[in-house]
Amino acid sequence: MEKRVLVLNLDHSPVAVVPVQKALVLTFLDKVSCLSFYESLIIRTVTKEYRYPAVIRLNEYRNIPYKGVLLNRANLFRRDGHECQYCGSRKHLTIDHIIPRSKGGKTNWYNLITACHRCNVYKGDKTPDQAGLALRTEPFKPTLSFFLADYAERHAEEWIPFLDVRTV
Ligand SMILES: [Zn+2]
Repeated sequence: MEKRVLVLNLDHSPVAVVPVQKALVLTFLDKVSCLSFYESLIIRTVTKEYRYPAVIRLNEYRNIPYKGVLLNRANLFRRDGHECQYCGSRKHLTIDHIIPRSKGGKTNWYNLITACHRCNVYKGDKTPDQAGLALRTEPFKPTLSFFLADYAERHAEEWIPFLDVRTV
């Protein structure tokens, strides 16, 4: 499988993940510096061999407006480790508004959690306190690093020293 390349801004904050061809073009244009390589891989062309970049850094600071990780079902489940945040079940997962919408609860990272169907139905239109349920973890807004760390652990250990996996 072809490995992906992590792109960092000049201040070392992650900004993108690109295919290796794109990383090589940026290298040849002198737009990036390579900070880390996949040591076990080599890129061969007809006449040359190149080291395979794992992490590259832009040579000039680019102001890239970061919109944050998309709030959707898949990303919410990933943030919560695919576990109901009330009982820990991994089955029949749904999305729960901690403070119900009918009570003014917002649709954002801090008010949405993964809940199994059973807990969701049991909780109904109540707050966790009213329903006697406790959250297993505090909901947080995940950073790009948080999601990249997930990929890095499985496919790209070379990225890990460059990722700040703390969450905001
Ligand atoms: Zn549950």
